[in-house]
Amino acid sequence: MDNPTLRTLAVLCLLCLALAGGPVWGQAPERSLRVGVYANPPLVSVDRDGSVEGFTVDVLEAIARAEGWHLEYVEASWGELMTSLQAGEIDLLTAIAHTAERARTLSYTREPIFTNWGVVYRHRQGDISSVLDLAGRRIGMLAGDTHAQVMEDMLAEFGVETQVVHGPDYRALLDMTARREVDAAVVNRLVGRVHASPDLVATHIIFNPVEIHYATGREDVLPVLRTIDAHLARLKSDGDSAYHEAVRRWIDATVETPAALPVWLAWALVTAVGMLLLFAVLSVLLRHQVRRRTQELLNKSRALETEIQEHRLAQERLNELAYSDPLTRLPNRALFHDRLQQAMEYAKRHDTLIALLFIDLDDFKRVNDSLGHATGDRLLQAIAQRFEGRLRKTDTLARLGGDEFTVILTDIASPQDTVVLVRSLLESLREPFDLGGQSIRMGASIGITVYPTDDSRETDLLKDAETAMYQAKARGKHTFAFYAPELTRRVSERLVMENELRAALTNDELVVHYQPVVSLSDGQVHSVEALVRWNHPERGMIPPDQFIPVAEESGLITGLGDWVTERACTQISAWDARGLPALAVAINLSAVQFRRDGLVSRLAGSLRSHGLAAHRLHIEITESLLMQKHGHVEETLRTLDAMGMVLAIDDFGTGYSSLSYLRHFPIHVLKVDRSFVNDMVHSPDSRALVEAIVAMAHALRLRVVAEGVETEEQLTALRAMGCDCVQGYLLARPMPPGELADWLEQHLNAHGTKTTGRA
Ligand code: C2E
Ligand code: CA
Ligand code: CA
Repeated sequence: MDNPTLRTLAVLCLLCLALAGGPVWGQAPERSLRVGVYANPPLVSVDRDGSVEGFTVDVLEAIARAEGWHLEYVEASWGELMTSLQAGEIDLLTAIAHTAERARTLSYTREPIFTNWGVVYRHRQGDISSVLDLAGRRIGMLAGDTHAQVMEDMLAEFGVETQVVHGPDYRALLDMTARREVDAAVVNRLVGRVHASPDLVATHIIFNPVEIHYATGREDVLPVLRTIDAHLARLKSDGDSAYHEAVRRWIDATVETPAALPVWLAWALVTAVGMLLLFAVLSVLLRHQVRRRTQELLNKSRALETEIQEHRLAQERLNELAYSDPLTRLPNRALFHDRLQQAMEYAKRHDTLIALLFIDLDDFKRVNDSLGHATGDRLLQAIAQRFEGRLRKTDTLARLGGDEFTVILTDIASPQDTVVLVRSLLESLREPFDLGGQSIRMGASIGITVYPTDDSRETDLLKDAETAMYQAKARGKHTFAFYAPELTRRVSERLVMENELRAALTNDELVVHYQPVVSLSDGQVHSVEALVRWNHPERGMIPPDQFIPVAEESGLITGLGDWVTERACTQISAWDARGLPALAVAINLSAVQFRRDGLVSRLAGSLRSHGLAAHRLHIEITESLLMQKHGHVEETLRTLDAMGMVLAIDDFGTGYSSLSYLRHFPIHVLKVDRSFVNDMVHSPDSRALVEAIVAMAHALRLRVVAEGVETEEQLTALRAMGCDCVQGYLLARPMPPGELADWLEQHLNAHGTKTTGRA
């Protein structure tokens, strides 16, 4: 019974039945009944020792006594009891509320044992007496409670808006009302009766009557239910019966039972219930109307949705036509401008670079003229497809018309990035196109412009890219050009150099020159520095400053470094074989080499394969490497030190490290940058600085090498400061190995022979 009308009718029936009730009972056979119970005080309470009592239990026991039944209690959870009841494992359940749903599988006593309902309590000083008075009030409710749900439905039906405050249980709700934290509380009447403080009064707002019955799931227990019905009717009508004794014991001495109702109260109740019935009937009518209207609206909105969907599809088709090139299905000029605008705004906001490529096919007109427009169209489609295959999802390829395409590249790190992609696009045209048996080759000229540019002028990117495209055409077609000529030059030089350097490594174009480092105390040469050069077949000798950065960027530095180490070791062995005093060779290692794994093992491998002691290799690194927060650096240096290699800091003074910082690393040699040595003679500051470096380096037990010594003046000054070694054009330029051997022999003749160790 979930309809308020029926529920109200049930209350009325209950009242009539109770008022008219008389003794009805029959003779039942003696039998044993398994009775399911769960704690639901005061209707059923189960003690810790397992004893069962409570209102419905007392009543049932009174009946069982009269009938000679033996009751066996089975205590379980509500869920378990329901299952057992359905399965017929227990005969009876005490205290189960009647619902239409349950009535389908269970049989109930016709006579309810008890009827509970929802009541609104208010503070004694409040003024709530009807549902309408609840408007704008704070109402305490139990979340998920059926009474609360019915109350909320009722409020909605009456269009009354309230402020619902949830509490943990009924008693707490009553307390909240007493403290006036809420204006009213929705509780069940039983709890209200037992727990409401004198500050609270029950209002006339009563609703949702719930009948409590005995029930069974077994056919053979039906006669038992009928017997209980007969007894209940009799017991209820007799004020002194066990039923009323149980009411007094468990519910309340003052609780009104239907039979004990004073006539005025009965009438008041009937009137109240009658009004409730009226409201309910009205609300049913209203609800029906609302439902019908809702359904109508729903149907209309569905129709509208379909219409909107169709409209949207049509719009999309229109957009497609307006924004795409019908031949290739690529974005057209209009959409391209839109996307370019977005990309530029994005780049500005996120401080990134975008590039715009302007692609013009080389000699496309010839294809059109000689093979016809249809073939030309098919070629354009095929080219669009190949380009698309080379682009990232985030790039926009558009066709502006004719044989002109554009590409917007977002989020690029450097102009260099673009080149990789541009080359890939040109590459994609390498395979000839097969158009109906005709094999056609196509080239393209690509103009590139990068945004934002260094100069802050207002740019027309498309125009710039097109200008660059004409430059590419002028440079012989099927190539690319940047709008900024400087960029084109830089980028292409880099690329050319990278490729040539790769070839140089295998073509033996690299050579190593060696520059002596001379000890000031005895004029001996303890070590030489290995300096790589590139003997370019066309451009002649290229200094390392020009190609080492390219090698570092492209990763070629690892191979190059290994090659230099290998050359140095071979050279040491060769000089040893020539009978020269044992020389150490200093090699320069770039930071990139430290970042790659296996540096130590490759160095050790080279030494081992040439049978050389580790102190024959000196390693020169820069200060900036020490500053890197890279975990491996310190560890690698320690390993190299432990192996016995000599570690030197190159170009000291140009970085930001301090001498005291060097203390944390196993460094043996400090090479003062040649700029200080150069300035020393003219600038007293530089001189003082070099002097300080020498003194402090000695305090840290570091050997000092002065680089770039070009004049006698510099040499004298360095000697006066106590500098340990010098290196520079004054003494010797870097030389090819053969030349160096001759130089060394001459030098030895002048200064006598000595060998050198690690320190
Ligand atoms: P660096 O390590 O500071 O090398 C010393 C540079 O100073 C050499 O230039 C040398 O030729 C030059 N130099 C020597 N004495 C004088 C002098 O009296 N006056 C002047 N003005 N210059 C002098 P180079 O050979 O051009 O090398 C330049 C830089 O290239 C080196 O600077 C080094 O950082 C790098 N490098 C050279 N070879 C290699 C290598 O094999 N690997 C790595 N990673 N870098 C290398
Ligand atoms: Ca060096
Ligand atoms: Ca240096």
